[in-house]
Amino acid sequence: MFATLSDRLTSTFKNLRSKGRLSEADIDATVREIRRALLDADVAVTVVREFTGKVRERALSAEVSGALNPAQQVVKIVNDELVSVLGGDQRPLRFAKTPPTVILLAGLQGAGKTTLAGKLAQHLREKGHTPLLVAADLQRPNAVTQLQVVGERAGVPVFAPHPGAQEGAEHLPGASAGDPVAVARDGVATARSRQHDVVIVDTAGRLGVDAEMMQQAADIRDAVQPDEILFVIDAMIGQDAVTTAQAFADGVGFTGVVLSKLDGDARGGAALSVASVTGRPILFASTGEKLTDFEVFHPDRMAGRILDMGDVLSLIEQAEKAFDADQAEAMAGKLVSGEDFTLEDFLVQMQGLRQMGSMKKMLGMLPGMGQMREAIENFDEREVDRIEAIIRSMTPGERNNPKIINGSRRARIAKGSGTTTTDVNQLLERFAGAQQMMKQMARGGGMPGVGGMGR
Ligand code: GDP
Repeated sequence: MFATLSDRLTSTFKNLRSKGRLSEADIDATVREIRRALLDADVAVTVVREFTGKVRERALSAEVSGALNPAQQVVKIVNDELVSVLGGDQRPLRFAKTPPTVILLAGLQGAGKTTLAGKLAQHLREKGHTPLLVAADLQRPNAVTQLQVVGERAGVPVFAPHPGAQEGAEHLPGASAGDPVAVARDGVATARSRQHDVVIVDTAGRLGVDAEMMQQAADIRDAVQPDEILFVIDAMIGQDAVTTAQAFADGVGFTGVVLSKLDGDARGGAALSVASVTGRPILFASTGEKLTDFEVFHPDRMAGRILDMGDVLSLIEQAEKAFDADQAEAMAGKLVSGEDFTLEDFLVQMQGLRQMGSMKKMLGMLPGMGQMREAIENFDEREVDRIEAIIRSMTPGERNNPKIINGSRRARIAKGSGTTTTDVNQLLERFAGAQQMMKQMARGGGMPGVGGMGR
């Protein structure tokens, strides 16, 4: 899945890692590589243009983050934009207020609708729903039987138009065998009377988009008033994905997308184009021929997979948390406004370092963390406990102005915190140094970083 795209993007980022700063030329070169990688993966040109435009703009505006080096910032930006192109938040299936919830499947023949019907039915059954499958694909000779087979595997009943076509087939008298609209309508009526809470209606597809098929799908839509119309698209069809999706959006309309055959060594462009071009979210992904090859689609996880950088991304997140930007800014603001950097602030910074300390191992695997990694590697977590104990043993007055702490108070504080006078002296010295540095940074307008905080 996305193997080529993934490789290309990852190697683009690798080239960036060695750079301490990114010039505009570096960013342009990177954006060019990203553009090529996306186009080669069959992502629609319009989507590529918008995507790379946003990445370039954000990379140039150089979002300041004390925690990330330039290469990591670019990865983060690309990741954010990928998530957004894939639809942002995961969009769950919408259920009707009064059951049954009607789900209509649409798409070209061979897209994977019938297979998906079985997968979705099984998924819903496992979640405690009682779905009914309706075979309204009367175009393909075997479609009804195929749905019956799939339904049986999924443990879900199938409403089919031909009486006795298959052992156990559902048939409602009056359902016209040749009329898919009537079959769909009768299927939904049956679901209602038998208290199935979800109905999944499989419709016919053609090999190409044609007016008759579109009209039939639209007629079924009007007859059953679906709560969801899911457009199933074969992720392997490349650039055609966009025109096909657009044709279905205009002809039938749909509320969500299902990507099928994501398991293929497809270049995967459909995945990256369809949500963005149609403005409809991707709800599910089909990843093989078995009923269990099915997943709820999470844009963020998919972006992580494409970038093949799950670990790096969670690391970046943690680093950002530890270096709470608001906190840093509040501190910088304090200094600028002339207020003093206090021992309390110092403690908060040290606690931030502790959070980083717990990631020591992960950081060890990463190149390019430079100065920060060194500070973290030398960092002793027990140190923070000691510092905290010492600061807690001071009076609020002393915390705000440590200069008033004389020799006997130092001894007292050491005793109260279970440390030695040397520990207290060392802390006060380090604090004075840090304070000095904070003042310098405040004058220079920079953010406090970790470099000076370590030992
Ligand atoms: P329909 O015409 O839209 O109903 O498509 P089908 O459900 O009959 O699927 C067409 C073919 O694609 C069948 O051979 C399926 O086994 C296969 N297929 C469906 N979904 C997937 C998938 O996610 N991965 C793979 N590899 N094959 C699939």
